[in-house]
Amino acid sequence: MIPNTNYAKLKSSYLFFNIAQKTKAYVEAHPGTHLYRMGIGDVSQPLCPAVIEALHAAVDDQANQSSFHGYMPECGAPFFRQAVAGYYAKRGITLSEDECFVSSGASDELGDILDLFGRDKTSLIMEPAYPAYVDANIMSGNTVVHAASGRENGFLPMPEDPMNADVIYICSPNNPTGAVFDKAKLKAWVDFANAHDAVIIFDAAYEAFIEEDGIPHSIYEIEGSRTCAIEICSLSKTAGFTGTRCGYTIIPMELERGGCSLNAMWVRNRTTKTNGVSYILQKGGAAVFTEEGQRKIHDTIKIYKKNEKCLMEALDKVGIWYTGGKNAPYIWMKCPDGMGSWEFFDKLLNEIQVVGTPGEGFGKCGDGYLRFSTFGSPEDTEEAARRLVALLSK
Ligand code: PLP
Repeated sequence: MIPNTNYAKLKSSYLFFNIAQKTKAYVEAHPGTHLYRMGIGDVSQPLCPAVIEALHAAVDDQANQSSFHGYMPECGAPFFRQAVAGYYAKRGITLSEDECFVSSGASDELGDILDLFGRDKTSLIMEPAYPAYVDANIMSGNTVVHAASGRENGFLPMPEDPMNADVIYICSPNNPTGAVFDKAKLKAWVDFANAHDAVIIFDAAYEAFIEEDGIPHSIYEIEGSRTCAIEICSLSKTAGFTGTRCGYTIIPMELERGGCSLNAMWVRNRTTKTNGVSYILQKGGAAVFTEEGQRKIHDTIKIYKKNEKCLMEALDKVGIWYTGGKNAPYIWMKCPDGMGSWEFFDKLLNEIQVVGTPGEGFGKCGDGYLRFSTFGSPEDTEEAARRLVALLSK
């Protein structure tokens, strides 16, 4: 038996392993030192009370014959699908319940969704990229083509002919760069996808962090997107669900390729490959979309926004170029004095005990950049910013 030989094509991902090794070595050599961890993409604040109450109530429901739930509908409980559709409606986007699917989080969906396209397809991935896009495509036997980005285009590549792709990944607000597409730029991608029979996978995991008016939170704010785009979203960063796991995926009824409805295909996929997401988690997830839930999650997001501001002010003070921050929980800074990503990572660790994520780990064009996450504690972020200013003003 020959296993999936595509796995042999995966590049080893040394990024987080190397970071862990280097920080471990530093702590061992300097016992008792506190590190300012600005590298992590995990949240630091707990679930909000509205979600906790809903989770507790759902656990109690499972204890009583009259309110007990067994298997849930594979594509999502009606109350969850209605809650998602209601959330989009507030932004003027009309979705039917049947277009909203529950998920166990965006990572699962980003891999599983490739089932819709079969094998040997070409996927266009903007670089620097969230590593899961690349690896999921390689595992599936797809060819990955990169749309390179850099400071010259604000890390927002635009479609160009010839760009041949069946699937196009767009992540806005972006991880790792924090860059955001405006409506005109997204419209260009939507027009391109429709003209070339491609499907856009729009990753909206960070939409709740957008604070500027006019920046699209959803691809469905763009005319023409219902015939070319799938949107994948997550409650992980929006509402602190990284360890709780719940998200949602939107597939419009009009999205067809080769005469097949991708929505119908996804229903078939989910009903074959999943038995739904637990009742308890869907209840917790639905609570995010209530008025109280929205108020509370935005209170938490404000904490991360304060971190963003603090780091941006530090970089402004020392005149370092960066993107992101304003509408995203990531800041993507140019390493000073032409330093490479790992060189600057080492300098920060050794001289001011701050840990970032080297941009090179997100693809070749990330070299020379470093990503800061704003999900850390406010105290650590303030001190890291202070140390950064002191170091870079020398
Ligand atoms: N998409 C992007 C761009 C992310 O950065 C992440 C997590 O960091 C995910 C998806 C995965 O989210 P989830 O926790 O829902 O799997």
